[in-house]
Amino acid sequence: MDNRARRAIVRRMDHDVILAGGGLAGSALAIALSQTGLSVALVDPVPAKTRGAEWFDGRSYALSIGSRNLLGAIGVWGAVAADAQPILDIRVSDGRAGEGPSPLTLHFDHAEIEEGPMGHMVEDRHLRPALLNALADVTLIEAGVTAQEAGPAGVRVTLTNGDSLSARVLIGCDGKRSAVAQRAGIRRTGWDYGQSALVAAISHEVDHGGVAHQFFMPEGPLAILPLKDNRASIVWTERRDRAKAITALPDADYLDVLRPRFGDFLGDIALAGARFTYPLGLSVANRFAAPRVALAGDAAHAVHPIAGQGLNAGLKDVAALAEVLALAKRRGEDIGRLDVLERYERWRRFDVATLALSTDAVNRLFSNDNPAVRLARNLGLAAVQRLSGLRRGFIREAAGLTGDNPKLLQGRPI
Ligand SMILES: Cc1cc2nc3c(=O)[nH]c(=O)nc-3n(C[C@H](O)[C@H](O)[C@H](O)COP(=O)(O)OP(=O)(O)OC[C@H]3O[C@@H](n4cnc5c(N)ncnc54)[C@H](O)[C@@H]3O)c2cc1C
Repeated sequence: MDNRARRAIVRRMDHDVILAGGGLAGSALAIALSQTGLSVALVDPVPAKTRGAEWFDGRSYALSIGSRNLLGAIGVWGAVAADAQPILDIRVSDGRAGEGPSPLTLHFDHAEIEEGPMGHMVEDRHLRPALLNALADVTLIEAGVTAQEAGPAGVRVTLTNGDSLSARVLIGCDGKRSAVAQRAGIRRTGWDYGQSALVAAISHEVDHGGVAHQFFMPEGPLAILPLKDNRASIVWTERRDRAKAITALPDADYLDVLRPRFGDFLGDIALAGARFTYPLGLSVANRFAAPRVALAGDAAHAVHPIAGQGLNAGLKDVAALAEVLALAKRRGEDIGRLDVLERYERWRRFDVATLALSTDAVNRLFSNDNPAVRLARNLGLAAVQRLSGLRRGFIREAAGLTGDNPKLLQGRPI
């Protein structure tokens, strides 16, 4: 096909980008791409009104400094800042229900880095509506993608409402069971952890002081993450069958099971909202790019929430992909060409592999009651605690301050 014929087809495309999936990653990417002048259609079968509802998702996210920068650069941070709780300190300890944490605690203090708080806790009920409200320049389509066909100049997708749309690139942000990836022939690597995370907001008597706690229990980790107004978000990992039984308990019995794990360092506790349960698994796409297709967010990589890094990694994808596509557009390149999309894949591949392997290893090492393994990890925690350089390195990594960070993660426009 000569260039004139290709340009004629490109001009006839309905949009530059079709984005399948309007979750947190898809919405952030749609905003970032539309701000670079690309025309974006965001397709999701779940109505925006439902996704933006208070009860839609009980999670709260430990957002890194990089993620906060990105939300600032795309104009969303201002809408969540007042409700965001700074994380000033992280304490990691080994423990058993009823015994309290072991005395060997690893302690990360934000004073060890110059950038201020290591991150912020932001509740889904604030973040999701803030992103949805910033989609003014995006074409929103309430439907699912059911089919896709990549051609030499563009991609055509079919929707559940029977419509068909064309664009130069289709981006799958459709979650860990991404059908966009499947249809593009992209396989996944991963496994089910046989664990579920119980999530709830808890109110407590004593001020948390901005401290996040991670208790490693034999059944799985319990994270107690500070929220505004004397509340904390718990991410309580249990074996799937135990989690199912605990989920079925009435609120008072649920709290009775939680109390010995939680401890009494924050005084008495009570539920401060609905309870949620999330099954946990690892699922990483073997490729993030295929002809006319790219993947981002959980569609590219869903990891154990043990380090609170899943969405942070998804927002790094957003920043990298938006930068690659914006630069390609400026150079007059076809933004859906495989070699353009592979620049994004190369940028993200190593970071994602490292995250998947490290979260998997930490979950295996810490969800274990073998006395030798307990001793080894307690010694490991104590050793890291003594090595301030290593500790600083961990803090900078978790805060999203290391590596080849795209501009949006540095708070700079593309
Ligand atoms: C318990 C728990 C705690 C967590 N805590 C943290 C944390 O502290 N920090 C952190 O960084 N991360 C955390 N994470 C990870 C984070 O929640 C996820 O990485 C993030 O929510 C994924 O967002 P997403 O937009 O990529 O995918 P999803 O939220 O799965 O969104 C996918 C979207 O695609 C849509 N869709 C599905 N099929 C189609 C289709 N055919 N066509 C069009 N659209 C479709 C869906 O309706 C949905 O809106 C946690 C995860 C869990 C389970």
